[in-house]
Amino acid sequence: MSERPTYIKFGEYTEHIPANIPAAVQQATGRFLGLRQMRVSEMPQWEELRQAASNIRLHTLENLDFYLEKLEQNVRAAGGQVHWAADAAQARATVLEIAKEHNVKLAVKVKSMATEEIGLNHALEAAGIQTYETDLGEFIIQLMGTGPSHIIVPAVHLKKEEIAELFTQKLGVEAPPDPVKLTAIARATLREKFLSAEMGVSGGNFLVAETGTLVIVTNEGNGRMCTTMPDLHVAVVGIDKVVPDWETLTVLLKLLARSATGQKLSTYTAFISGPRRAAGENGPKEFHLVLLDNGRSKILQDPVARETLKCIRCGCCLNVCPVYKNVGGFAYGWFISGPVGAIFSPQILGTEAARELPFASSLCGACADVCPVKIPIPKILLHLRRRVVEGDEFAPASAPLMVRAGAKLGTFALGVPWLYRFGTRLLPIFTAPFRKDGWMSSLPAPANLWTKVRPFPAFRANFRQWWAKRTK
Ligand code: SF4
Repeated sequence: MSERPTYIKFGEYTEHIPANIPAAVQQATGRFLGLRQMRVSEMPQWEELRQAASNIRLHTLENLDFYLEKLEQNVRAAGGQVHWAADAAQARATVLEIAKEHNVKLAVKVKSMATEEIGLNHALEAAGIQTYETDLGEFIIQLMGTGPSHIIVPAVHLKKEEIAELFTQKLGVEAPPDPVKLTAIARATLREKFLSAEMGVSGGNFLVAETGTLVIVTNEGNGRMCTTMPDLHVAVVGIDKVVPDWETLTVLLKLLARSATGQKLSTYTAFISGPRRAAGENGPKEFHLVLLDNGRSKILQDPVARETLKCIRCGCCLNVCPVYKNVGGFAYGWFISGPVGAIFSPQILGTEAARELPFASSLCGACADVCPVKIPIPKILLHLRRRVVEGDEFAPASAPLMVRAGAKLGTFALGVPWLYRFGTRLLPIFTAPFRKDGWMSSLPAPANLWTKVRPFPAFRANFRQWWAKRTK
């Protein structure tokens, strides 16, 4: 099981959510969704593309061993080196060893969810290697000392005034709250790092098995600087990112930027096949690919949850999620948030460590409706809820005894119509002392776990009573 380099513990999040998160997040996600909708309406074949992408991802996962071996052969044939990492600790150790062999003192990074997952920055810094995130959003949150609050726009929760204050404090410059000037400050700071870094670190959006090619999709151009200027490039990529060939890659690229930011194609799409081959060519002298498992092969064994691995990290499910838009990314406690985080984290970290997440959903299904690779997120959430409450062959039950007993009682009561009717008549009577203006803001234990955080709507007549009254 992976370690979780968490920045906020589950259950303690409500005090940490800055007040402006919902407004800032809703503004940004609304803009992305509007643009996405425009792109979708331009493409009558959108649904066919989604189905094709889903088929490609499922086919690749079902034949993952074959495609990974092919990938390894072709990366080696292109002059690159391949390392296999069973877990986060092994991946960190591999990168550190490579860095040590090359006497690296300064590293520049491309935005990467895989390196967030393994907590690479902390490991590099602890080994005395200065590490700079070079994506503007990642650079900002690195200065703040937090994790990303959105998987594609990590600093989405911050206002320009807050960023200006941060730059003034941390970079020792007079930073005005002007996005163009703030970008120029970040660029000037990072330019010097690109020129002197000995190692560039990246993740990867896809790996093309056919040619051993790493694909990196960015909007800022920093990816190319990181992967071509230093003499050493190390890419840490999940084993689920492999695609069979260029034809299948094209389908996924058509969907990725459109679903993420509403662009037809992102500004930069870099294809890296090994290191430079001859003097005078662009690119590093050495290219290392660290293939990260970290629980993915275990997810693959689960016939229901394995579809989680189809994810191409577009972030669209976050943009559409009513829960995410109200609580922001930090509430999910790890680098990956929103609906995809709610299904990914409990499987990688274990349901014991992240058991609240499958329940952090209204199951409205908006995420599944927009997901470009058709991941049935609500179905996987229900599957994981069952695992938390009842346990299965992948993990024992981890919900507190009280919750398990409550779930059993609820299942029983909901399955017996007369008992349900009787219970819903009694509840308004028993809870009357706690009711005020239609809400209950303090209930006895264990219900106080809820009312400590937010009030509960008062029980009223059940639907049948309400309907009978209305149609009388
Ligand atoms: S689950 Fe689907 S919508 Fe969400 S990030 Fe992954 S690919 Fe995108």
